[in-house]
Amino acid sequence: MTWVDHSQSDSEGKRRLRAMSIPYGRQMIDQDDIAAVVEVLRSDWLTQGPSIERFERKLADKVQASFAVAFSHGTAALYAAVGAAGLGPEHKLVTSAISFIASAACGIGAGCRVDLVDVEEETLNLDPRAVPADADALVAVHYAGLPIDLSRLSHRPRVIIEDAAHALGATTPDGPVGNCAHSDMSVFSFHPVKAITTGEGGAVTTNDEQLAQRLRMIRNHGIVPKPQHGAWYYEVESIGSNYRLTDFQAALGMSQLDRLDGFIERRNRLAQRYDEALSGANVSIAPRADPGWRHANHLYPARVERRQDVYRFLHDHDVHVQVHYVPLYRHPVLKLPDGPDRFPKAEAAYERLLSLPLFPGLSFEAQDRVVSLLIEALTSEG
Ligand SMILES: *Cc1c(COP(=O)(O)O)cnc(C)c1O
Repeated sequence: MTWVDHSQSDSEGKRRLRAMSIPYGRQMIDQDDIAAVVEVLRSDWLTQGPSIERFERKLADKVQASFAVAFSHGTAALYAAVGAAGLGPEHKLVTSAISFIASAACGIGAGCRVDLVDVEEETLNLDPRAVPADADALVAVHYAGLPIDLSRLSHRPRVIIEDAAHALGATTPDGPVGNCAHSDMSVFSFHPVKAITTGEGGAVTTNDEQLAQRLRMIRNHGIVPKPQHGAWYYEVESIGSNYRLTDFQAALGMSQLDRLDGFIERRNRLAQRYDEALSGANVSIAPRADPGWRHANHLYPARVERRQDVYRFLHDHDVHVQVHYVPLYRHPVLKLPDGPDRFPKAEAAYERLLSLPLFPGLSFEAQDRVVSLLIEALTSEG
């Protein structure tokens, strides 16, 4: 490719590194994953079949929840969780000012009044003491994979849904994220940048059998079999959708789940290397987990001055840093134009946020390149 500079007299390894484009996140697929998918492709089942139940059991056991229900996407899982909780136009749902749109869209989709809660300056998780007393439901986002401390909530809404899309593999003193120790349901995503992947996919875990039943019903168009009227007979009392995961995706999920602990260890190690390498630089390193807590390190959200320039410099050098996220109040669909004033901590953090590449397949060599380019960007004149 033309952008490899062959005039450099560097070693072949360094030249290859220079030519390498580094994403902010990436899946890790091995031969076992491929074999697991192929096996299902050769079977009688493509869409929801026996692998789904096995994946659900394995995921539930992994996070120490009673039930897991697999979905086509993490977003579908969030929508279904809101539906299963019976939330609608008469309810107020709140979530973090800094998250992906899906954390709020699930409430908007159900007709809820949606409002936001400002983040804590240090952790960038929503401030548990700022959850308003009139909130009926909370979508608690474990931002970047750092678990929010739900035991510190000043107000416990009737419904608590953990948006754990970043936090599979994280633990709190009360056990793994997903065991719903302080919530009704936890939602995971298996998008390729997340801790494990099924291509697209998601799941809800819960300890409530009724919720699990409703989640399965919503996943399948709201269909309720009524065999007393004939084996074929069913009725639909409330609309669901087709939110099903395929059987070969579930096989991939099971195979990936076997390597989750290793993935998280690698992410933890890489995050620690960023902490060390950036400690002397003009960068706020990403929030760390307290003793007794395990960070899933889905993202490494550093905070830098002149973010726009730093972002452009790194992209010009094929380091594809990202910004997580444009605060939710900035999206016109939330109708919160006074957001920057109401959520000053989110606004201040947003101006400087920059997610550095972090994924299990990131080599130390590539990470060192990210660090040196970042430091170069920070020390160069605008
Ligand atoms: C990824 C993500 C989702 C949605 O997951 P998909 O599987 O991509 O639909 C929801 N919330 C947060 C915070 C996410 O990062």
